[in-house]
Amino acid sequence: MSKIKNLIVGCGLSGIVLAERIASELNEEVLIIDKRDHIGGNCYDYKGQDDIIIHKYGPHAFHTKYKEVWDYLSKFTSWHYFTLKSQIVIDNEKVTLPFNINTIYEVFPEYLATKISKKLINTYGYNKKIPILELKNSKDKDLKFLAEYVYKKIFEQYTVKQWGVTPEEIDKSVTSRVPVLVSKDNGYFQDKYQAIPLQGYTKMMNCILDNPLIKVQLNTDFKDIRDNVKYDKLFYSGAIDEFFNYEFGALPYRSLYFDIQEKNVEYYQNTAITNYPNNYDFTRISEYKYFLDQKTSKTTIAIEYPQEFEDGKNERYYPIANDSNLELYEKYLQKSKNLSNVYFFGRLGDYKYYNMDETIKRALDLFKKVKENNVTTN
Ligand SMILES: Cc1cc2nc3c(=O)[nH]c(=O)nc-3n(C[C@H](O)[C@H](O)[C@H](O)COP(=O)(O)OP(=O)(O)OC[C@H]3O[C@@H](n4cnc5c(N)ncnc54)[C@H](O)[C@@H]3O)c2cc1C
Repeated sequence: MSKIKNLIVGCGLSGIVLAERIASELNEEVLIIDKRDHIGGNCYDYKGQDDIIIHKYGPHAFHTKYKEVWDYLSKFTSWHYFTLKSQIVIDNEKVTLPFNINTIYEVFPEYLATKISKKLINTYGYNKKIPILELKNSKDKDLKFLAEYVYKKIFEQYTVKQWGVTPEEIDKSVTSRVPVLVSKDNGYFQDKYQAIPLQGYTKMMNCILDNPLIKVQLNTDFKDIRDNVKYDKLFYSGAIDEFFNYEFGALPYRSLYFDIQEKNVEYYQNTAITNYPNNYDFTRISEYKYFLDQKTSKTTIAIEYPQEFEDGKNERYYPIANDSNLELYEKYLQKSKNLSNVYFFGRLGDYKYYNMDETIKRALDLFKKVKENNVTTN
């Protein structure tokens, strides 16, 4: 194999965006490989029954506050404007999630709901997000009651199911994703830009890759070619511990299993996602036709089961952020700094949960760094 100028490992959103930047801006050739048989990493989608677009690795709703990211993607796709709506089952009733002022009125008698809502607004202000662990420290007895309610009915069991540990054992960056929202806005996210690529994520990512300088090679594991391949620069969005042969030990991940089922009904549930914090082994059910508002007589759902990650058996999904795992990651990070022509990035390379917009921002920022280095070394 001749020497490759830029080798990118991982044809997920991270690798795809970086490949496009290098090819378009630096006018250099890029080979991007992936061990899977499709592009797109965990954002991959495909057409199922009735052409409903299925997100193979779980439901994906794009949302961002970064104009730079929105403008970048908008060069490659048109959009279906979409605000994710979701429900959660508490005591066998479906109520609004995010847990907001509407939810408070759904679960408590009116007099109590009014009292709690007023206190929330007066204490924190309207439109504020309060992480549940912070609310638990409130001195006010009604707010403390609310915190205990949310903690017991949603948070505790959900965390144990999703992560296999109690909320206290997990990093705050994870737990702050489940806040109480002082608002009547039922949208799950509050970002300025929220939409789904009009023809799906895979189509958008194919457009990003559409450059004669980019060559895509699927079904290719870096492990199998690393001894024979030569490159000027390697951009690695696979797992950093695997790259270093697990020298310091394996970085723990949480995995998921999606049971995708076709249903012979027009709609299965009221919202795109229903969450099940208690009972059952699964955490949520997604109904895909909602994401692009597809009008079909049948529907397709995915039932989501959290699992332990086992190498070779299932996929790495969520890095488990806690002190000891982040310490372990730090060792790999330090080691990676000795390699002058290898860059780690993406959710597996950085061992970090990134939403899609953060993934793209990380790739755009990495590209800026690479471009600066090119200018100074050329
Ligand atoms: C269940 C779930 C739901 C999500 N929902 C949302 C959402 O609603 N909104 C949102 O913004 N974000 C969401 N995300 C986050 C989103 O999936 C990530 O931001 C994005 O996939 C990260 O892209 P990536 O390229 O860094 O990683 P990945 O998509 O994982 O891509 C990495 C690629 O590298 C390949 N690879 C790894 N090792 C090797 C190797 N040795 N050789 C060759 N190839 C290799 C893998 O096969 C994979 O294709 C969700 C994530 C999950 C898990």
